[in-house]
Amino acid sequence: MNMDTFYQVKQILQDNDNIVFFGGAGVSTASGIPDFRSATGLYNRQTGNNYSPEYMLSHTFFMKHPEEFYRYLRNNLYYPDAKPNNAHKALVKLEKMGKLKAIVTQNIDGLHQVAGSGNVIEFHGNSTKFYCMECGKEYPSEYAYETLGVPKCNECGGIVRFDVVLYEEPIDQKVYSRAIEAIGKADVLIVGGTSLVVYPAAGLLQYYKKDKLILINQEATMTDNQGDYILIGDISKILWDLVQELCQGGVG
Ligand SMILES: [Zn+2]
Repeated sequence: MNMDTFYQVKQILQDNDNIVFFGGAGVSTASGIPDFRSATGLYNRQTGNNYSPEYMLSHTFFMKHPEEFYRYLRNNLYYPDAKPNNAHKALVKLEKMGKLKAIVTQNIDGLHQVAGSGNVIEFHGNSTKFYCMECGKEYPSEYAYETLGVPKCNECGGIVRFDVVLYEEPIDQKVYSRAIEAIGKADVLIVGGTSLVVYPAAGLLQYYKKDKLILINQEATMTDNQGDYILIGDISKILWDLVQELCQGGVG
């Protein structure tokens, strides 16, 4: 990693208190949750049938084959032992320091809230929250994951689904507006753990108008040229080190 850039970024974080973080799957890989699109990620795993993972996570598939949908969920999207890593923890510290105003995340694992972050905008929903499609009654994740077949509501018998935006389903308009507002008002935008190829999430970047766009990624990405500062490496280490430097008043 380029240490000059690291210290420039540290200085920016020190000088600003209107920072927004926009994150993707790379934020949670250190917690053992696979990156959907990396070589070892979910989209490259066998699904056990001839369907693509995108199709299995679509609204059509869920409505047509709810049993198979749930089998797929239980095998691939349930990580009851996943714990927040240093990326999540660093962002909690940054919020407590009064610097970080919001986290916009494409992840559905809910680990930012588990870590203790307050203002989290979950763009694609939350895979640990379930609700009845008929009456709206809410259920804990165990109700759906640690059962067999299609989970049904114990009040009305409706199908219980997770609070995640499936393929073909629109992003919640309120969530979209909150994300645009947070990013549009930010003085500093840190984008981490995402290759920015996922629309419409990727389109959110256009709402950031300032000149302190910091990109943190494991590998160089095609969208690096959009960033003002690029840090390549393990995001859980980079964010942690940055926040440690801030806490200590920093050298350099
Ligand atoms: Zn119900």
